[in-house]
Amino acid sequence: MSSPFSPKVDRLKFDSLVERLKETAENLPDSRTGSNGQYAMKDVVLSAFALFFTQSPSFLNFQRDMERNKGKNNAASLFGVFKIPSDTQIRNLLDLVDPQYIFPLFENAFEDLVAVGALDEYRTSQGKLLLALDGVYYFSSNKIHCDQCRTQEHSNGTITYSHTVLATAIVGVNQPVVFPLPPEFLTPQDGHDKQDSEIAAAKRWLERYAHLCQNHDIVLLADDIFCHDPFCKQLVEAGIEFLFVCKPESHKTLYEWVDDLEKSGDVEHLTTKQWDGKNHQISDYRIARQVPLRDTDDALLVTFMECTIRCEENGKILYHCGFATLMDVSLETLEDYIEQARTRWKIENENNNTLKNQGYHLEHNFGHGSQFLSATLLTLNLLAFLFHSILSLMDANYQLVRANLGTRETFFDDVRALTRYFYFDSFQGLLTFMAEHLEIAPIQQIDPGGQTR
Ligand SMILES: [Zn+2]
Repeated sequence: MSSPFSPKVDRLKFDSLVERLKETAENLPDSRTGSNGQYAMKDVVLSAFALFFTQSPSFLNFQRDMERNKGKNNAASLFGVFKIPSDTQIRNLLDLVDPQYIFPLFENAFEDLVAVGALDEYRTSQGKLLLALDGVYYFSSNKIHCDQCRTQEHSNGTITYSHTVLATAIVGVNQPVVFPLPPEFLTPQDGHDKQDSEIAAAKRWLERYAHLCQNHDIVLLADDIFCHDPFCKQLVEAGIEFLFVCKPESHKTLYEWVDDLEKSGDVEHLTTKQWDGKNHQISDYRIARQVPLRDTDDALLVTFMECTIRCEENGKILYHCGFATLMDVSLETLEDYIEQARTRWKIENENNNTLKNQGYHLEHNFGHGSQFLSATLLTLNLLAFLFHSILSLMDANYQLVRANLGTRETFFDDVRALTRYFYFDSFQGLLTFMAEHLEIAPIQQIDPGGQTR
């Protein structure tokens, strides 16, 4: 890691991260018309961000009350909101903001994390970073819809409208924290007749972010639907490696080839045994090389690796999965690669569940808008998630407080209550207050100039 006082480390502190969002918001193209100009776009963006960062749907109401009672408020001191807009104003103005303008913040933060060595522990034994892709629903309704909605007609005549995003996140073997990279939204393409797909979204994402993968030795991890011949070829052309789940139902030809190679003795096998404290776990691994991803002459030939874990005592299958890759897998490195490939579940557990189950107040607070609203809110929610991930790696007081409070929920409950009743002049002030009252010694944050905050 570079020096704790390096400018790049400073860029990963809470105030700098919020400052960057503020600059982004100030530079948004302003497409509003008429009497909408009362609020600065930065106040609208930072206010919405504050809701997600505090995971408190009532945060802005509480701060309006505090401003009335005390003449100051935490939306201003923590997030730099000059004048808190109403929920209606936030809804109306954010609907005009294309979330793409916010995406560079994810990319810049990632570059800074790499530059300061914060992701060194995330690298695999081959020196690579793992990036998981996964499609996530973030809106679904039978009534509310917009031009960007996906539509699904049911046999009883009803229609489900939904929004899906391709979420992406840096994950690491045995690393609990994940770091979102820019998402790609699924929207109707070529007019409104043709539905978008996760694989099409992944191709668009790759066109835009191949450089990130190439520059930082990123390996893509994804579920079976991404293990798709044209997409994998696109990756090969871009020189990007992948470890994708490969299921028998969707890869019949590949599994037939593996069966044939098995019969001719051309599949490599490895069996290991582990004691889990109660039973013996037998892991059977196998590798088959040069197998086609699909039933065409031009199909990509991949390496197939498979892992089956069973209990020796009762014969139960505990885990089974096959993967396709072009990485250099051998019997020596097989277990390592399978572990990397299995790290994909982190994006489901850490990233998506957190978004879905906690602080996911998008619909009933703001509605879904007619243009960009739901996508922009989702992007700000992801950005808040990213900022928390960064702080959990880069901010000693944040680490102390989070570790002491145990669960995420307790941390956010406390932040909600504290920011309702007390005024803090900075985010570090809030963390220091929490650390002091938890009777854990806060770590003094020292500026490069030597001043203690
Ligand atoms: Zn919609």
